[in-house]
Amino acid sequence: LVVVENVQKHYGDFQALTDIELTIGKGEVVVIIGPSGSGKSTLCRSINRLETITSGTIRIDGKDLPAEGKALAALRAEVGMVFQSFNLFAHLTILENVTLGPIKVRGMRRADAEREAMEILTRVGVEKQASKLPAQLSGGQQQRVAIARSLAMHPKVMLFDEPTSALDPEMINEVLDVMIGLAKDGMTMIVVTHEMGFARKAADRVVFMADGQIVEQAEPEEFFTNPKSSRAKDFLSKLI
Ligand code: ATP
Ligand code: MG
Repeated sequence: LVVVENVQKHYGDFQALTDIELTIGKGEVVVIIGPSGSGKSTLCRSINRLETITSGTIRIDGKDLPAEGKALAALRAEVGMVFQSFNLFAHLTILENVTLGPIKVRGMRRADAEREAMEILTRVGVEKQASKLPAQLSGGQQQRVAIARSLAMHPKVMLFDEPTSALDPEMINEVLDVMIGLAKDGMTMIVVTHEMGFARKAADRVVFMADGQIVEQAEPEEFFTNPKSSRAKDFLSKLI
């Protein structure tokens, strides 16, 4: 479903991604881990085309990444992205945050969009907050709304870039539980996270990055118990 081939990404003289090759099948859950600055966010942002790659190809569901315009908007709708910061529209209610994309981009009628949004908000457990503003919600609730907003676009793949890093510890699990539910329902997911419990529980594959390269990838059990590269061993030893 997601095919990344021979991707290089430079920021000026600095090479942030080197020879990235990654194929993710439909329904697969891939967790990306690695030290700070290893290029995890750059890779996610490249897949969603928030960054322009220097060379190589990225295809979503067989389609090359379009450069701009309508095609890019359509692609963005197919690739949901959830960030560390929740990025909700502060002046819109929770329901409006979730219905905005479906109405504006997918051309849904408001009543239909609202009905579906309520179903999705129920799925992530924040339906009671629908008429509130983002600032009136806890961080964990806001992040679940951000996930709901992505889901409302019916994405083919969901990207998560450290979705729980900005949360207080007691709210981390409520967000991870929603993500585990999505994984169980067959969503294709790429998740950058330091939550190794999530990786063990939900990931089909762990991809370990360092210095802009994929150093190794394996099933979680295999990776955590028997890392091959010295970089991965070193990284895991520091995680406690
Ligand atoms: P973290 O775990 O800290 O989030 P990361 O693995 O997500 O790290 P990236 O944010 O992808 O790392 O950054 C990879 C490298 O690219 C870093 O060295 C970073 O300084 C550099 N970089 C990222 N964005 C830019 C930018 N817009 N301009 C220049 N350099 C950048
Ligand atoms: Mg990052």
